[in-house]
Amino acid sequence: MAKFKRILLKLSGESLMGEQGYGIDVKRLNEDAAQIKVVQQMGVEIGIVIGGGNIFRGLTGAGKGFDRVKGDQMGMMATVINSLALSSALEAIGTPTKVLTAIRMEPVGEFYTKWKAIEAMKEGKVVIMAAGTGSPYFTTDTGSSLRGIEIEADVMLKGTRVDGIYTADPEKDPTATKFSDISYDEVISRGLKVMDITATAMCRENNLPIYVFNMDVVGNLKKVMAGEEIGTFVHP
Ligand code: UDP
Repeated sequence: MAKFKRILLKLSGESLMGEQGYGIDVKRLNEDAAQIKVVQQMGVEIGIVIGGGNIFRGLTGAGKGFDRVKGDQMGMMATVINSLALSSALEAIGTPTKVLTAIRMEPVGEFYTKWKAIEAMKEGKVVIMAAGTGSPYFTTDTGSSLRGIEIEADVMLKGTRVDGIYTADPEKDPTATKFSDISYDEVISRGLKVMDITATAMCRENNLPIYVFNMDVVGNLKKVMAGEEIGTFVHP
C-alpha cells in the first residue's frame, strides 16, 4: 500500500543534468521516469513540477544583463523543455502523461487548470505541470507548492540531491546533522535553504506537508511511498 494517494513531485532542473553540468542527462531522465512508473503502478495519482535550472535561471540572467522578466520567462520555457523531455521518457516506457502549461502554448501542452489536472490523474495519467506559476519573480518551488495545494495532493515530495534537511549544508559543514522531521516555522526561523520562503509559507498556510529526499538514488521514490523514513518530513 502506498503511503500517499495523490502526490505532487517536485524535481529540480539541476538534478536532471546529472553529471553533465548543463542540459538534460538522458540516463538521469530515464532513471527518474522509471522511478515514477513504479509509483504510478502502485495506483498513486501523480502530479509533477520540474524546475529549469539546468538550462536557464532568470536571476542568473539578470546578473548578466538580461531583463529580469524576460529572463524569468526564459526560465519558465526551460521548465517546459524539461517537462516535454520527462513526458517523452515516461511515454516511451508505457506510462501515459499529460503536459499542462501555465502559459498558453498549444499544441505543446494544454493550458493548465486544476480540473484538467485532476481528471487526467484519475484517468491514470502522470500530469506534468510546466512553466511554473506562469509569472516572473517566482520559482518552481513556489509553482509546486501552488500546484500541490490546487490539486489537493496529500504531500509535496521534493526530490533533491541530498537526503533531507540538515542543520547546515552537509557538503560544507561535516558537523551538520539531519532532521527526520521539522516544522515549517523552524525551517523559516533557522533560515534553512530547503525551498524559498514564499514556497514554504504557502505550504504552511495551506497545510501541505513536504517530504524532502534524495531522488538521485534509484529506488528512493518507491521507498518514500512505502513509508520508509529516508528523508525529512516538514509539517505544521
Ligand atoms: N520561473 C519563473 N516563475 C515561476 C517558475 C520559474 O519565473 O513560477 C523561472 C525563474 O527564472 C527560475 C527558472 O524559471 O529561475 C527556473 O526555475 P527554478 O530556478 O525554480 O528551477 P530549479 O531550481 O528547480 O531547477
